[in-house]
Amino acid sequence: MRPLEPELERRRAEHLYRRRRVLGSPQNPRLQMDGQELLSFCSNDYLGLANHPEVIAALQRGADRYGAGSGSAHLVSGHSQAHHALEEELAAFTGRPRALLYSTGYMANQGVIAALLGRDDTIYQDRLNHASLIDGGLLSRAGLKRYPHNDTAALAARMACQSGGDALVAVDGVFSMDGDLAPLPELATLCERQQAWLMVDDAHGFGVLGRGGRGSVDHFGLDRQSVPILVGTLGKAFGTFGAFVAGSEALIETLIQQSRSYIYTTALPPAVAEATRTSLRLLQQEEWRREQLRQLIAHFRAGATQLGLNLMASQTPIQPILAGSAEQALAWSQALERQGLLVTAIRPPTVPEGSARLRVTLSASHTLEQLDQLLEALARLKREADA
Ligand SMILES: *Cc1c(COP(=O)(O)O)cnc(C)c1O
Repeated sequence: MRPLEPELERRRAEHLYRRRRVLGSPQNPRLQMDGQELLSFCSNDYLGLANHPEVIAALQRGADRYGAGSGSAHLVSGHSQAHHALEEELAAFTGRPRALLYSTGYMANQGVIAALLGRDDTIYQDRLNHASLIDGGLLSRAGLKRYPHNDTAALAARMACQSGGDALVAVDGVFSMDGDLAPLPELATLCERQQAWLMVDDAHGFGVLGRGGRGSVDHFGLDRQSVPILVGTLGKAFGTFGAFVAGSEALIETLIQQSRSYIYTTALPPAVAEATRTSLRLLQQEEWRREQLRQLIAHFRAGATQLGLNLMASQTPIQPILAGSAEQALAWSQALERQGLLVTAIRPPTVPEGSARLRVTLSASHTLEQLDQLLEALARLKREADA
């Protein structure tokens, strides 16, 4: 048995050590972290629904009706009317015949890939794909081919070399650490030509992009033939918890029969499904939330560009500021915190070596005044760095 301390020490020395903070309030722009009031720019609650009174009331009604826990897996006795109704509403929302709830996005990605692919098949993954897609591919034992970020030509060259077996291309719709979009129209054309499945994980696109928040697939005007496998998570813009897969009748039935992370786990609490039904309604109806986000994004990009900060090509609420070294990213994050702002440093291995960053995320519940506070704090940082 090897001692574990040296590896922990190495992480500390390389500024890669991760430490949890303790939240003492709801996930609001103004929150309480480790007992301190901070203005936060790092949640994925893009529409401000995580603490919405109607969503909370639905959660409470759900608990009154169904209790605290589901008590069982979906295939045993845990599949409630609340789960079933939410699945039907998500199918209608995504314009697909069926949708299936999973307990988390991590499990949905694992469950889909491992159910569809085996040893003789190949999975193609963008280098910046979320860890859950990568891990799902490994679990399936399919051959893994990664291609440079958003490089459709490189992907096409790799696909042309495949001999035998099924092919599946998996991508984030909106890349979680960069905020840019996958080139879905080109990927869809390529996959149609190669008879490959295209699987889009739109964890950061739903609620934010597309008509009525229908996500990146809708943003590009693609249909369910082009993108046969669509994954969404409910813990981000939906403000609740859980995930879903939307697709054809045959896809969903295959998952119900074979997807191990669907079958061998307890269903989400029905109250969470009930809360999500309300957040799905608000997410579609309240266009002003997306309008507010667009204004905040434009304001942030204009202000940060003026300061000479190194932004990335993102038009979404994920607005990273590149720092380079993990040490620099951490120093900026700590300096902002001394000014009352919470912006987390994202370091390797979550992002490639040398591209550590502050990951600023915006929410419809931020005000322009709060955003100006962030820009002023960044301006002070920049002045100190240049001095
Ligand atoms: C957050 C995220 C997931 C995981 O979803 P959870 O419900 O949090 O497990 C999957 N894919 C992407 C792209 C994500 O950002």
